[in-house]
Amino acid sequence: MRILIVEDEIGISGFLKQGLEEESYAVDIASNGREGLDMALSGDYDLLLLDWMLPGMSGIELLRQFRKSDMETPAIFLTAKDTLDETIFGLQAGANDYIKKPFHFEELLERVKVQLRPKSGEHAEFTLGPITLNTRKHQVMKNGKEIKLTQKEFALLEFLMRNKGNVCRRTRIIESVWDIHFEYNTGVIDVYINALRKKLGLNEKENYIQTVRGVGYIAREI
Ligand code: CA
Repeated sequence: MRILIVEDEIGISGFLKQGLEEESYAVDIASNGREGLDMALSGDYDLLLLDWMLPGMSGIELLRQFRKSDMETPAIFLTAKDTLDETIFGLQAGANDYIKKPFHFEELLERVKVQLRPKSGEHAEFTLGPITLNTRKHQVMKNGKEIKLTQKEFALLEFLMRNKGNVCRRTRIIESVWDIHFEYNTGVIDVYINALRKKLGLNEKENYIQTVRGVGYIAREI
Protein backbone atom coordinates (compact mmCIF):
# COMPACT_ATOMS: atom_id res chain seq x y z
CA MET A 1 0.00 0.00 0.00
CA ARG A 2 1.36 3.37 -1.02
CA ILE A 3 0.47 6.74 0.46
CA LEU A 4 1.08 10.26 -0.84
CA ILE A 5 1.48 13.06 1.72
CA VAL A 6 1.04 16.60 0.40
CA GLU A 7 2.25 18.89 3.17
CA ASP A 8 4.55 21.92 3.17
CA GLU A 9 5.66 21.61 6.79
CA ILE A 10 8.67 19.33 6.62
CA GLY A 11 8.45 18.51 10.31
CA ILE A 12 4.95 17.11 9.94
CA SER A 13 5.51 15.27 6.66
CA GLY A 14 8.76 13.71 7.90
CA PHE A 15 7.14 12.56 11.11
CA LEU A 16 4.17 11.08 9.25
CA LYS A 17 6.37 9.36 6.70
CA GLN A 18 8.46 7.73 9.39
CA GLY A 19 5.43 6.59 11.37
CA LEU A 20 3.60 5.21 8.35
CA GLU A 21 6.69 3.43 7.07
CA GLU A 22 7.02 1.72 10.42
CA GLU A 23 3.50 0.41 9.73
CA SER A 24 4.80 -1.03 6.42
CA TYR A 25 3.27 1.53 4.07
CA ALA A 26 5.34 2.98 1.24
CA VAL A 27 5.21 6.79 1.53
CA ASP A 28 6.03 9.67 -0.82
CA ILE A 29 5.94 13.38 -0.01
CA ALA A 30 5.04 16.41 -2.12
CA SER A 31 5.58 19.83 -0.55
CA ASN A 32 3.36 21.98 -2.75
CA GLY A 33 -0.06 21.67 -4.35
CA ARG A 34 0.97 21.41 -7.99
CA GLU A 35 3.60 18.77 -7.40
CA GLY A 36 1.08 16.93 -5.22
CA LEU A 37 -1.57 16.97 -7.95
CA ASP A 38 0.88 15.68 -10.57
CA MET A 39 2.02 12.88 -8.31
CA ALA A 40 -1.54 11.99 -7.27
CA LEU A 41 -2.65 11.83 -10.91
CA SER A 42 0.00 9.19 -11.60
CA GLY A 43 -2.49 6.80 -10.04
CA ASP A 44 0.26 5.09 -8.04
CA TYR A 45 -1.33 5.76 -4.65
CA ASP A 46 -3.84 3.97 -2.46
CA LEU A 47 -4.44 7.00 -0.23
CA LEU A 48 -3.78 10.77 -0.20
CA LEU A 49 -3.08 12.77 2.97
CA LEU A 50 -3.61 16.41 2.08
CA ASP A 51 -2.78 19.55 3.96
CA TRP A 52 -5.30 22.33 3.39
CA MET A 53 -3.07 25.42 3.16
CA LEU A 54 -0.35 24.70 0.61
CA PRO A 55 1.86 26.83 -1.61
CA GLY A 56 1.04 26.68 -5.32
CA MET A 57 -2.45 25.27 -4.97
CA SER A 58 -4.60 24.64 -1.91
CA GLY A 59 -5.38 21.11 -0.82
CA ILE A 60 -9.05 21.77 -1.66
CA GLU A 61 -8.25 22.86 -5.20
CA LEU A 62 -5.88 19.92 -5.63
CA LEU A 63 -8.58 17.49 -4.57
CA ARG A 64 -11.23 19.13 -6.74
CA GLN A 65 -9.04 18.81 -9.83
CA PHE A 66 -8.08 15.29 -8.86
CA ARG A 67 -11.72 14.20 -8.55
CA LYS A 68 -12.52 15.95 -11.86
CA SER A 69 -10.12 13.48 -13.46
CA ASP A 70 -12.35 10.68 -12.19
CA MET A 71 -9.81 9.55 -9.63
CA GLU A 72 -11.38 7.72 -6.69
CA THR A 73 -8.34 7.29 -4.47
CA PRO A 74 -9.46 8.06 -0.89
CA ALA A 75 -8.24 11.35 0.58
CA ILE A 76 -7.92 12.57 4.16
CA PHE A 77 -7.46 16.26 4.96
CA LEU A 78 -4.98 17.33 7.62
CA THR A 79 -6.23 20.68 8.66
CA ALA A 80 -6.13 23.35 11.30
CA LYS A 81 -9.44 24.57 9.92
CA ASP A 82 -12.22 23.00 11.90
CA THR A 83 -15.27 25.18 11.61
CA LEU A 84 -18.28 23.29 10.39
CA ASP A 85 -18.56 25.24 7.13
CA GLU A 86 -14.99 24.56 6.15
CA THR A 87 -15.25 20.91 7.01
CA ILE A 88 -18.33 20.54 4.84
CA PHE A 89 -16.49 22.41 2.08
CA GLY A 90 -13.66 19.87 2.30
CA LEU A 91 -15.98 16.90 2.18
CA GLN A 92 -17.84 18.42 -0.77
CA ALA A 93 -14.55 18.76 -2.61
CA GLY A 94 -14.26 15.00 -2.41
CA ALA A 95 -12.48 14.27 0.86
CA ASN A 96 -13.30 10.96 2.56
CA ASP A 97 -12.29 12.13 6.02
CA TYR A 98 -10.42 14.89 7.80
CA ILE A 99 -8.34 15.21 10.92
CA LYS A 100 -7.65 18.34 12.90
CA LYS A 101 -4.12 19.53 13.61
CA PRO A 102 -2.56 18.95 16.02
CA PHE A 103 -3.39 15.26 16.06
CA HIS A 104 -1.97 12.13 17.64
CA PHE A 105 -0.31 9.77 15.22
CA GLU A 106 -2.34 6.86 16.59
CA GLU A 107 -5.58 8.60 15.64
CA LEU A 108 -4.34 9.39 12.16
CA LEU A 109 -3.21 5.79 11.75
CA GLU A 110 -6.67 4.50 12.66
CA ARG A 111 -8.26 6.79 10.08
CA VAL A 112 -5.75 5.68 7.47
CA LYS A 113 -6.58 2.05 8.21
CA VAL A 114 -10.30 2.74 7.88
CA GLN A 115 -9.77 4.19 4.40
CA LEU A 116 -7.50 1.32 3.35
CA ARG A 117 -9.64 -1.38 4.91
CA PRO A 118 -10.58 -4.03 2.38
CA LYS A 119 -13.95 -3.17 0.85
CA SER A 120 -16.71 -5.63 1.64
CA GLY A 121 -16.22 -8.59 -0.61
CA GLU A 122 -12.51 -7.94 -0.75
CA HIS A 123 -10.39 -10.43 1.13
CA ALA A 124 -8.41 -9.50 4.20
CA GLU A 125 -6.86 -12.94 4.31
CA PHE A 126 -4.73 -14.45 1.58
CA THR A 127 -3.48 -18.00 1.35
CA LEU A 128 -0.56 -19.59 -0.39
CA GLY A 129 -0.20 -23.30 0.28
CA PRO A 130 0.21 -23.65 4.07
CA ILE A 131 0.79 -19.90 4.47
CA THR A 132 -1.91 -17.40 5.43
CA LEU A 133 -1.49 -13.63 5.57
CA ASN A 134 -4.10 -11.55 7.36
CA THR A 135 -3.97 -7.83 6.63
CA ARG A 136 -6.34 -6.88 9.47
CA LYS A 137 -4.36 -8.72 12.12
CA HIS A 138 -1.10 -7.97 10.30
CA GLN A 139 -0.18 -11.59 10.83
CA VAL A 140 1.47 -14.35 8.83
CA MET A 141 0.95 -17.98 9.81
CA LYS A 142 2.36 -21.20 8.42
CA ASN A 143 0.81 -24.48 9.54
CA GLY A 144 -0.79 -22.66 12.47
CA LYS A 145 2.49 -21.15 13.65
CA GLU A 146 3.08 -17.41 13.51
CA ILE A 147 5.99 -16.25 11.36
CA LYS A 148 7.54 -12.95 12.46
CA LEU A 149 8.38 -10.71 9.52
CA THR A 150 9.82 -7.21 9.25
CA GLN A 151 7.51 -4.52 7.86
CA LYS A 152 9.09 -4.62 4.42
CA GLU A 153 9.05 -8.42 4.31
CA PHE A 154 5.36 -8.34 5.22
CA ALA A 155 4.59 -5.73 2.55
CA LEU A 156 6.50 -7.73 -0.05
CA LEU A 157 4.75 -10.99 0.84
CA GLU A 158 1.36 -9.24 0.84
CA PHE A 159 2.02 -7.84 -2.62
CA LEU A 160 3.03 -11.26 -3.98
CA MET A 161 0.05 -13.01 -2.36
CA ARG A 162 -2.44 -10.40 -3.58
CA ASN A 163 -1.12 -11.11 -7.06
CA LYS A 164 -0.97 -14.89 -6.63
CA GLY A 165 -0.67 -16.69 -9.95
CA ASN A 166 0.59 -13.58 -11.74
CA VAL A 167 4.19 -12.69 -12.43
CA CYS A 168 5.21 -9.60 -10.45
CA ARG A 169 7.76 -7.54 -12.31
CA ARG A 170 10.62 -6.10 -10.30
CA THR A 171 9.65 -2.52 -11.12
CA ARG A 172 6.08 -3.11 -9.92
CA ILE A 173 7.34 -4.66 -6.71
CA ILE A 174 9.63 -1.68 -6.10
CA GLU A 175 6.84 0.79 -6.86
CA SER A 176 4.42 -0.87 -4.51
CA VAL A 177 6.67 -1.74 -1.59
CA TRP A 178 9.36 0.96 -1.61
CA ASP A 179 9.01 4.73 -2.08
CA ILE A 180 10.04 6.69 -5.19
CA HIS A 181 13.29 7.92 -3.70
CA PHE A 182 14.41 4.36 -3.38
CA GLU A 183 17.52 3.63 -5.45
CA TYR A 184 16.53 1.60 -8.44
CA ASN A 185 18.92 -1.13 -7.50
CA THR A 186 16.34 -3.90 -7.70
CA GLY A 187 18.92 -6.30 -6.30
CA VAL A 188 17.51 -5.47 -2.90
CA ILE A 189 14.35 -7.39 -3.82
CA ASP A 190 16.40 -10.57 -4.09
CA VAL A 191 17.76 -10.00 -0.61
CA TYR A 192 14.24 -9.62 0.79
CA ILE A 193 12.91 -12.59 -1.18
CA ASN A 194 15.70 -14.76 0.21
CA ALA A 195 14.92 -13.61 3.73
CA LEU A 196 11.23 -14.34 3.19
CA ARG A 197 11.89 -17.81 1.81
CA LYS A 198 14.12 -18.56 4.77
CA LYS A 199 11.65 -17.34 7.40
CA LEU A 200 8.78 -19.16 5.68
CA GLY A 201 10.88 -22.33 5.45
CA LEU A 202 10.46 -22.56 1.69
CA ASN A 203 12.70 -24.87 -0.29
CA GLU A 204 12.77 -26.72 -3.61
CA LYS A 205 9.87 -28.88 -2.49
CA GLU A 206 7.85 -26.03 -1.04
CA ASN A 207 8.59 -23.63 -3.86
CA TYR A 208 5.69 -21.22 -3.35
CA ILE A 209 7.67 -18.10 -4.27
CA GLN A 210 9.34 -18.71 -7.60
CA THR A 211 11.90 -16.68 -9.50
CA VAL A 212 10.98 -15.73 -13.05
CA ARG A 213 14.39 -15.14 -14.56
CA GLY A 214 14.99 -11.64 -15.87
CA VAL A 215 11.46 -10.56 -14.93
CA GLY A 216 10.63 -10.90 -11.26
CA TYR A 217 8.79 -13.27 -8.94
CA ILE A 218 5.56 -15.20 -8.75
CA ALA A 219 3.67 -16.59 -5.78
CA ARG A 220 1.86 -19.73 -6.91
CA GLU A 221 0.29 -22.89 -5.58
CA ILE A 222 2.33 -26.00 -6.30
CA1 CA B 1 0.38 24.11 5.23
